[in-house]
Amino acid sequence: MQSCLFCRIIRGDQPAELVHEDEQVVAFKDIRPQAPIHFLVVPRKHIPTLNDLAADDGSLAGHILQVARDLAVQFGIHEIGYRAVFNVNAGAGQSVYHVHLHVLGGRMFSWPPG
Ligand code: AMP
Ligand code: ZN
Repeated sequence: MQSCLFCRIIRGDQPAELVHEDEQVVAFKDIRPQAPIHFLVVPRKHIPTLNDLAADDGSLAGHILQVARDLAVQFGIHEIGYRAVFNVNAGAGQSVYHVHLHVLGGRMFSWPPG
């Protein structure tokens, strides 16, 4: 995916502040943080939205969640609480069409979300 912003970050063609990388995912700080801690967990595989997860992406999806949890522990937000969000398509405000899990912490969150 030549033009995909997150594929470019994964390839190293676009700078980002990485907080984790392994063979399946990278995680980096959101450029416009909505909380004191805000990072994105992104599969290396280009999957446009959560709707496009394939039947054999189950272990990848689980790994995204486990990396999010491990980073929440690392950032010290796991006990007080944090928010983990997939925005899917325009109705939820998705702006980058490469699946990513937002992890936000360091402040209180209200429910329902805006
Ligand atoms: P979404 O709106 O759910 O698709 O989330 C996309 C997120 O990517 C937004 O929170 C943006 O602030 C973030 N973003 C856009 N460009 C970059 C970038 N170059 N580096 C890091 N985060 C970015
Ligand atoms: Zn991509």
